[in-house]
Amino acid sequence: MAEKKRLTPTERTKKRLKVTYILLFSLLIVSFIGMGVFYKDRASGNSCAENVVDNRIDNREEKPVIDEKTVIDKKPISKPKPKPVSRPKPKPIAKKNKIVFVIDDCGLSLENLKLFLKIKGKVTFAIMPQRRFSLKTDEILYKNGQEIILHQPMEPLNASINPGAGAIYYDSSYDYIYKTMDVNLKTVPHAIGINNHMGSKATSNLNTMKIVCSYLKGRNMFFLDSRTSADSVVREAANMVGLDSLVRNAIFLDNQRDRESILNAINSGLQTSKRDGYAIMIGHLVSQELAKIMIEIYPKLENSYEICDLKTLLGDN
Ligand SMILES: [Zn+2]
Repeated sequence: MAEKKRLTPTERTKKRLKVTYILLFSLLIVSFIGMGVFYKDRASGNSCAENVVDNRIDNREEKPVIDEKTVIDKKPISKPKPKPVSRPKPKPIAKKNKIVFVIDDCGLSLENLKLFLKIKGKVTFAIMPQRRFSLKTDEILYKNGQEIILHQPMEPLNASINPGAGAIYYDSSYDYIYKTMDVNLKTVPHAIGINNHMGSKATSNLNTMKIVCSYLKGRNMFFLDSRTSADSVVREAANMVGLDSLVRNAIFLDNQRDRESILNAINSGLQTSKRDGYAIMIGHLVSQELAKIMIEIYPKLENSYEICDLKTLLGDN
């Protein structure tokens, strides 16, 4: 057994001091740690504690509101809603290509007109002047609300063909043109424009066409060039006098009068409409097959095209 060493009074004093220092030092460390925790709590407590409280309040206040809203919003959705009838979705405005059907040589037969009157949609009728049924045809079509133009006879290149009453010739004078057209329009009083019947020769004379255009300008009418000749100067003359004009841009519909040929010609016209944005297609009163086809195809065409009259077409230009 180890014998316990006796300490001298000096050593005992030193040892007590040592123990005191250790105790004091320990107290200091404990105090520092204690203060550190205290201040840490205080520093964070002043901001975070409020936030905690606020968050709790926020949570208490917001959550039910959201839940309530959600419930309100969801309830009608979960119910089978009837489709809104009063507020239909706005249709996309897709601009359709335009097509105009012009029926030439009207005024020659009322019998042939009957079938064309059954077409449900816009048709422009070109009435020949000074014919047996000119005035009657004008009256019927006007009551029917269709567009009427004067089918103005003009001199053709083939000298053996007579353009008929009220014709304008290659060398017609100013006075003759004005007087002739006055008479012609008395027999087609509701005409708002003209197109030419024949005229492969007359429409190539710029001076003659300028006189015709000046006359039409004075009556606030327009000129549809039937384009019976590649040498036609109607457009040029019209521009010179500031007259509204149009030019046939599609093939004639009934150069051959069987169903298949007419359908092919119409299809060609529809291609023209896609190319130019519009197509002016001309057929003739004598083509009863054309009338039957038009009655049949108008409802289908109206899905993809705007079938309009010449005045509407002019409004676009
Ligand atoms: Zn004609």
